[in-house]
Amino acid sequence: MRAFWILGDQLLPQHPALRQATPQDTFLFIESASRSSHLRYHQHKLVLLYSAMRHYAEELRQAQKQVWYHQLEDGIGDYFDALERFCKNQKPSSIIVMEPNEWGMQSILPHLAKGLGVAIEIIPSEQFLVTRGDFKAWAGSKTNLLMATHYQFQRKRLNILLDEKGKPEGGSWSFDEDNRKTANDFKKAKLTAPPLPAIARSAITQKVISQVTKHWSSHPGQASTFWLPVTRRESLQWLAHFIENSLPHFGAYEDVMIDGEKTLYHSVLSPLLNIGLLTPQECVEAALKAYQDKKAPLASVEGYVRQIIGWREFINGVYWLEMPEYQDLNFLKATRSLPAWIYSAKSPLNCVSRCIQQASETGYNHHIQRLMVLGNFFILSGCEPKAVLAWYKEMYVDAYDWVMQPNVLGMVLYADGGRFATKPYIAGSGYISRMSNYCAGCQYKPAIKTGPQACPFNYLYWNFFAQHSEKFKNNHRINMMVKTWEKKSVVEKEEIQASAKSFFQNNW
Ligand code: FAD
Ligand code: SF4
Repeated sequence: MRAFWILGDQLLPQHPALRQATPQDTFLFIESASRSSHLRYHQHKLVLLYSAMRHYAEELRQAQKQVWYHQLEDGIGDYFDALERFCKNQKPSSIIVMEPNEWGMQSILPHLAKGLGVAIEIIPSEQFLVTRGDFKAWAGSKTNLLMATHYQFQRKRLNILLDEKGKPEGGSWSFDEDNRKTANDFKKAKLTAPPLPAIARSAITQKVISQVTKHWSSHPGQASTFWLPVTRRESLQWLAHFIENSLPHFGAYEDVMIDGEKTLYHSVLSPLLNIGLLTPQECVEAALKAYQDKKAPLASVEGYVRQIIGWREFINGVYWLEMPEYQDLNFLKATRSLPAWIYSAKSPLNCVSRCIQQASETGYNHHIQRLMVLGNFFILSGCEPKAVLAWYKEMYVDAYDWVMQPNVLGMVLYADGGRFATKPYIAGSGYISRMSNYCAGCQYKPAIKTGPQACPFNYLYWNFFAQHSEKFKNNHRINMMVKTWEKKSVVEKEEIQASAKSFFQNNW
């Protein structure tokens, strides 16, 4: 008998194991309490993973497959303990696993095989559109990896949104310029974002909620307010809901942040994509169909397609290309610890506080909240990369190492020195006050530049150049800002640096 080990983030509808296994083979699932305790993972993420795994295994049992399932309550510590018990009991000839999505997991497989005395065979992943090898071949010896170039390459390869001459549909590879509506535009349009379909809780989910509450009540979130799909059928319902109700407005309002509107027109499909309940192909195909049926405009459809075959595939490619060295990078030599309030809504900055509150309650923030509010805050405060990475991994339901490392270390913190970001994503209050309604409820004033009433983003932005001018003076995308900083008067520079110093003294 061979054992096909289905990892918790690989619950694919067409998992290669389903094709390869014979009736004599066994499907193996392991819930590892010790793995879930590495960090303080959000309770909703743990409920999602365990409930989705149990439902997936149950469907296999109902299809008359042999399933060996180690649940939390079986008292097993780590993967090795569980595998050892399984091997002693079942004596498999080999264990077969699809390429793990995380580098750490992939690197322990040879050690597990050695310790168990059983061969572990790795079969290619079918969870992404671009294989690790193909990304490596594309990257070649490029010093800068550009998402836009990779995206165009993939659009052509996959024949997506091309006209009969092979040119981009609508005459452009990207319609981002059309997708810049502000919080004020949202208000004026008097739109209401559609609520996500409610998910009825099964007995399986209810049981997992009790177990997560029992074991991990100190982790962010509350298991009892869990809100996400856990099965393939429910995931397809959310995809259909997104395509029909949100995609038409997705592009226009994708950067807007409205207090109280948790998901706006975003899909909230990343938690499902990242554990395999949905595939990138079917999400892209559904968006393309909406365009063909004239149910969604090109700017929205292209914008969404770019997130999936552009950003998502690119981030995964960068991760496998750069690991393991990537995880230790700290180009800006940032050393500040995180502020004590970082897990609560007690931040003095209203925008930061609202985003943290939302992440604590739901395990979800959309991209701009993660990047331009929280990320902006972390990089401008000079927070230490490993601590920031751990925080992000703990707060989100869709957080996995492959996606967090490049997004946090590369995109947010510029810790990789610009391996793929052409400049740091930093901004003063102007961007946040234009794209959100957070400033109205804030103790600080976005129009004031220094002093106790000033928005901290304003002086922290220039303080960043006070510290890092040398590193960016030859970067053509940002050297104008270096020059502007250098031209400021001595008095102005002193006011900026004094405001930053007092902000850190009073708020850490
Ligand atoms: P939508 O706005 O509906 O976007 C569509 C889809 O595109 C997403 O579902 C996602 O699958 C994909 N996507 C878009 N951008 C990215 C990206 N940069 N990296 C990977 N996929 C992308 N995404 C995760 O899936 N897991 C994470 O842990 C994660 N951490 C992030 C941390 C930071 C600091 C930043 C800046 C971004 C992070 N992202 C992460 C990317 C992005 O913010 C989320 O994918 C998105 O917010 C998920 O919500 P959604 O499904 O409603 O997205
Ligand atoms: Fe955030 Fe500054 Fe606006 Fe306050 S004033 S909400 S800190 S951008």
